[in-house]
Amino acid sequence: MGIFIRNAHVITMDGITGSGPVVRSIRIEDGVITAIGSDLHPVDGDRVIDGRDRLVSPGFVNAHTHSWEMFYKARYDNLPLELWLAQAYPVLGDSRVEPELVRLRSTLFAIESLKAGVTTVVDDVLENPGQDWAQLSAVFDAYEEIGIRANISGHVISKPYLDTLPFAAEYLPESIVTELRSRSVPTADEYLDFSRKAFEQYHGWGDGRLRYMVAPSAPQRCGEDVLVGATELARRYGAECHIHVLETKTQLVTGTEMHGKSLVSYMHEIGALSPNTTLAHGIWLTEDDMAMVADAGTSISHNPISNLKLGSGIAAWRKLRDAGVNLGLGTDGCSSSDSPRMLDVVKTAALLHKVTTPDFTAWPRVDEVLRAGTIDGARTAVLQDTVGSIEVGKQADLVIYDLETMAFTPRQKLDHQLVYSENGSSIETVIVAGRVVVDGGEVTTVDEAAVRAELNERLADIIAWQDRLDADNSVLTGALTRMYNRAMSAPAPIDRFSGDERAWLV
Ligand SMILES: [Zn+2]
Repeated sequence: MGIFIRNAHVITMDGITGSGPVVRSIRIEDGVITAIGSDLHPVDGDRVIDGRDRLVSPGFVNAHTHSWEMFYKARYDNLPLELWLAQAYPVLGDSRVEPELVRLRSTLFAIESLKAGVTTVVDDVLENPGQDWAQLSAVFDAYEEIGIRANISGHVISKPYLDTLPFAAEYLPESIVTELRSRSVPTADEYLDFSRKAFEQYHGWGDGRLRYMVAPSAPQRCGEDVLVGATELARRYGAECHIHVLETKTQLVTGTEMHGKSLVSYMHEIGALSPNTTLAHGIWLTEDDMAMVADAGTSISHNPISNLKLGSGIAAWRKLRDAGVNLGLGTDGCSSSDSPRMLDVVKTAALLHKVTTPDFTAWPRVDEVLRAGTIDGARTAVLQDTVGSIEVGKQADLVIYDLETMAFTPRQKLDHQLVYSENGSSIETVIVAGRVVVDGGEVTTVDEAAVRAELNERLADIIAWQDRLDADNSVLTGALTRMYNRAMSAPAPIDRFSGDERAWLV
């Protein structure tokens, strides 16, 4: 049995009509879009959806997120990345999450994502203090059941914590330095063996919806053997290699301190930039860095809300686009941006860069931000031939919006209203791989009330655990603040803050 959507307003994001709405019927069979046109008819047995007052668009691709943060939603504020990380990803104390809680966390995250029209998530599963097989399996199990599409990482930090930051060790008492240095980290062979096993077991799971991706945490957090080995594995399996690069000015200073050059130059030299690689954030890149990224065919996930929340800076949207870098959009995790709603990110991307230059011809356009949220995001995930646009032969990952809502009243330009007026409350139906996973605004594949009840039963324990970890890790705050201030005061060839960064340190 197929699905037939009759005469809807459709944003295809294909190469012909792009983001401009057109009236079309769409037929879906066996998970795939089999026909699009203005003179189509359903086949007997099809579920027919009347598209008269409906807008259909490709599901959003969240090009960078971390489901780990689901339990940390809105817990912290006014902390820059390095201080926030030491709370949300604690380095001291017992931070391991049991696989059954990983599964609950992943299910909650997927429910919220699907109801917000996000059909693909690039979930960089950063487990603390490290990730084991049972935890990875729990994410695959949760996403298989709920029906979302995902790239799911094995994430690795292969350097001791204090070797990933400049200056911090100088400011910590000897006892804490010793304790931090005593913690073991995985070797390159351990991580690459884990990843080979994950590719064999899970790559293409859930009828192809679920894929494994490698994720060396960042160039300053992993050795060259991990960075190069992960890049090679991603290319061999046609998968994504996902890595955090130059999110903060501290990381720009880290490149100088560790290598005497930018972290992008370093990656270029060792062969860790590739068309399968996506850099998360990419804010503090010089124009030389941008040229290297573009030449390598490497993508960037732009995460403007997270970058605002953590005060990381403003990525150079237009310069990156002009350099030829493919840009996707991501929410980042639910602690650094507090929501997996891609519509918020698309709108913020459209707005934020308008105040960075009076040259209004350089401001992001609606078609560009919609591309970044769909087809270009799919390219960051190495899924450009699978999803991201409504085209015959592609997987049927679609969102159907009710146009009889205030966000679309009066009907002016539906694509502009999708970006600037809609917040997800008009979402009626979400389809992933031809399966209706949200119907009438509700998830169909799991019992949301039961999942929330399970969370509520466990919530007191989860918060007590987080409180203990916050207390354990508060000993790092003073040293990290001194490190941060020193990095912010360092001279830099570029400035990605909206004002004079030194002025706000006085
Ligand atoms: Zn991240």
